[in-house]
Amino acid sequence: MTLDAHAEKLSFQAEVKQLLHIVVHSLYSNKEIFLRELVSNASDAIDKLRFEALSDPALYEKDSELKIRVSFDADARTITVSDNGIGLTREEAVENLGTIAKSGTREFLSRLTGDQKKDAHLIGQFGVGFYSAFIVADRVTVNSRRAGLGAEHGVSWESAGDGEYTVANIQKATRGTDVILHLKESETDFLNDWRLRNIIAKYSDHLNVPILMQKRTDDGKPTEEWETVNRATALWALPKSQIKPEEYKEFYKYVSHDFEDPLAWTHNKIEGGNLDYTSLLYIPAHAPFDMWSRDKHYGLKLYVQRVFIMDQVEQFLPMYLRFVKGVLDTTALPLNVSREILQDHYTIPKLRSALTRHVLDLLDKIAAEEPEKYASFWKEFGNVLKEGPAEDYTNRARVANLLRFTSTHSEGDGQHVTLQDYVKRMKPEQKKIYYLTAENIHAAGSSPHLEVFRKHGIEVLLLTDRIDEWLTNHLAEFEGKPLQSVAKGELDLAEIAAETPEEKAKEEQKDKELQKEFDGLFKELKASLGERVKEIRLSHRLTSSPACLVREQNAMGPQMERLLKAAGQPVTEVKPILELNPDHLIIKKLQELTEEKQIKEWAFILYDQSLLAEGSPLEDPAAFVKRMNELLIK
Ligand code: ADP
Ligand code: MG
Repeated sequence: MTLDAHAEKLSFQAEVKQLLHIVVHSLYSNKEIFLRELVSNASDAIDKLRFEALSDPALYEKDSELKIRVSFDADARTITVSDNGIGLTREEAVENLGTIAKSGTREFLSRLTGDQKKDAHLIGQFGVGFYSAFIVADRVTVNSRRAGLGAEHGVSWESAGDGEYTVANIQKATRGTDVILHLKESETDFLNDWRLRNIIAKYSDHLNVPILMQKRTDDGKPTEEWETVNRATALWALPKSQIKPEEYKEFYKYVSHDFEDPLAWTHNKIEGGNLDYTSLLYIPAHAPFDMWSRDKHYGLKLYVQRVFIMDQVEQFLPMYLRFVKGVLDTTALPLNVSREILQDHYTIPKLRSALTRHVLDLLDKIAAEEPEKYASFWKEFGNVLKEGPAEDYTNRARVANLLRFTSTHSEGDGQHVTLQDYVKRMKPEQKKIYYLTAENIHAAGSSPHLEVFRKHGIEVLLLTDRIDEWLTNHLAEFEGKPLQSVAKGELDLAEIAAETPEEKAKEEQKDKELQKEFDGLFKELKASLGERVKEIRLSHRLTSSPACLVREQNAMGPQMERLLKAAGQPVTEVKPILELNPDHLIIKKLQELTEEKQIKEWAFILYDQSLLAEGSPLEDPAAFVKRMNELLIK
């Protein structure tokens, strides 16, 4: 390299160094994928050129036959993947090959364990990309020139994958990129025509671009004649009957940058009417590591009449299906469509509702036919799907059918109870679907609020995900049955205990008497607790606990309240109601107390233990401990 080539030695970003190391070590057992990754990058580069050339045909530079060439040189021990795609400028080479822009990378890398098997699985979800070249090569050279720039604007990037790389200016007459792998001593196997053709057939048959290799003479010498070695038709455009499952899977890996097979897919071709489109949509097997990150990109690859337009188009699916990957090819949008035009193009709502339907159909089918597969889907994406009822009013009932819960009647662990199951098990007099929200399944299971439901054998859904309160706020009913929190409002015993009108009247009479009997005590307790509680009343929920806290019917639950507070949101505090169990020994004994100080101590003990039972923090934990200890001594 001469000085006027502006040769520079640069360091990889720290994350790249780490990633490189992991890719090379954890993916060694599947090393042939390097070719898939390089060919898929070449194909992406060609797609980008095709798209940019729509508005600037000069970019073709009189060479509009887009193709990828794969060749090898046994003597030089190199494999070269060349494309005449968009190419890279020097800045782009530094930016795209020396850093990882993906948000959350650092956090992701910190989760790697050092265990190769586990890491291979994680790294697969992350997408391995260009760095996989270093699995088989001890030096990689990238010579490139951006389409539309003069030959003198070429760049040569080179690295041994050891933390540093060099960049220099070069002359490059042809547009596009050549990636040259200098193979490690141990990888001589890849210098083999048959082997390379097989790998291409296995991973890249479906790419929309021809991949060419040289014809060889009988003794293996390359000739000047090139032949296409893949099918080179857009996979989604083929009839379903001509596509093998393996091909669907490989195509998924191409569109998603995922390393694992997808869980399921749905391929639809809709013609006629004013909405022609083909969609091939996939559900991944695992949630991406950054599914909840705010600046995560998602969305489909958009093609218009087979021409790639753009990646990560979010408009075609609702947020609650953002985990879906795939392509949409349509004639309903113009070729020159931009992100701005897409924002409010009149076909978007139609396409979106059509694609949403395809995904929901697919989920219905899996749920009905392959419950275990559905359970695995639910484990990965259930929490995202729960956003559905709030976001998609039209499909609220369909999404509700796809939800899964744990309940007081569920067996084993995991969430398997459907709302249909629940409704089927409802008691004849029961009108509502009862649920309890809690911090975790143990807290839910032992909540005092469940006592009366347990006693009468009424099922309660146990909701322990952060999003559940949000869900229940928006899913007010299912099949005409309202959802009701067991920790809110007044309980209708007639429904729960299946009381006859006579029994009910008797119960009410008894209540009145009890009310009178405890009136004095409740007043004193309320005076002690002051504004902490809105009121103290008799409970119908409790059988074995002395006390619990209840919210008013429309108030926010304690989980939601904590969540909002933690997020720094203003929360209007709603005071809870303290309910006491008149049949409990403690409450009975309290009646006998006369000393004001003692009553006050008990008021706090009951209030604090109710807070603890619902998973809320105590105002003064040390005081609670002190009171407990004093009581224990007595
Ligand atoms: P990804 O393909 O997921 O973006 P890669 O690691 O495979 O990640 O590639 C990193 C980046 O390098 C690409 O996004 C692209 O900008 C650039 N790149 C790689 N190969 C090529 C190529 N053949 N032509 C142009 N750019 C390329
Ligand atoms: Mg790539």
